[in-house]
Amino acid sequence: MFRNFILAAAIAGTATIADAAPQVELWRLDCGRIAVNDLSVFSDTFAYAREKKTLTDSCYVIRHGADYMLWDTGLPAALLGKPLAPGEVLAPTLDRTVPDQLKEIAIKPEAIRLIGISHYHFDHVGQAADFPKARLMIGKTDLEALKASPAPFGADPSLLTPWLSGGAPLDTVEGDKDVFGDGSVVMLSAPGHTPGSHALLVRLAEKGPVLLSGDVAHFEKQFETGGIPPFNTNRAESLASMARLQAMARTLGATLVVQHDADDIAKLPAFPTSAK
Ligand SMILES: [Zn+2]
Repeated sequence: MFRNFILAAAIAGTATIADAAPQVELWRLDCGRIAVNDLSVFSDTFAYAREKKTLTDSCYVIRHGADYMLWDTGLPAALLGKPLAPGEVLAPTLDRTVPDQLKEIAIKPEAIRLIGISHYHFDHVGQAADFPKARLMIGKTDLEALKASPAPFGADPSLLTPWLSGGAPLDTVEGDKDVFGDGSVVMLSAPGHTPGSHALLVRLAEKGPVLLSGDVAHFEKQFETGGIPPFNTNRAESLASMARLQAMARTLGATLVVQHDADDIAKLPAFPTSAK
């Protein structure tokens, strides 16, 4: 009898917590494309020679109750409509801006209160300054690198002027960061691609846990072949971060989404449908 009471109380307690938890919703946005005319630039062991691939540049909106957060902000709007340059090793272009897509799902730019950044490369911070009042969350060592002279490979600090100038709120992240304090959205330390790289865990009620990779990998095959771009800042950390995400995906039964992999992002509903 006593045992049944405890069990009933435990179930009731769980239901109360679940009812009170803010609803979490995740949209993926189209934040550009990058035609890679020589995929071997993503391997320091001469893999992928003579291969070509078009990488997607995805970014994400998360609703947590009444709060909205962006995860990465894609390529800069200056690339809107840019023809793909056939001769370039990496040719980026943008079809739609983030504010344009937010309008379609009735989210005003000023409703974006938080921006989480996976790392400092220009294809992840490109449109952040369209949300200059938002609180920016970025790895501490990535921020330090951005302030160095010269700026690190792949970074354009001017894209983050509202925060680097001290005019907008900024959180530097060391290790993991539980964004809303309830475990539903967690920035995961995943260094190697850059010193302060992060991935993002989003726990959804129906879809289950989703892991957004940042640039821990650029396409799924890198997990199989241990493909490390020579421009990563630390090879050993890169391998460790790949192992962390894969292990976490296994233990949580999470959907691992490699943000630059067009096949991978199809694991989430096509915009404007959200995952819940
Ligand atoms: Zn990238």
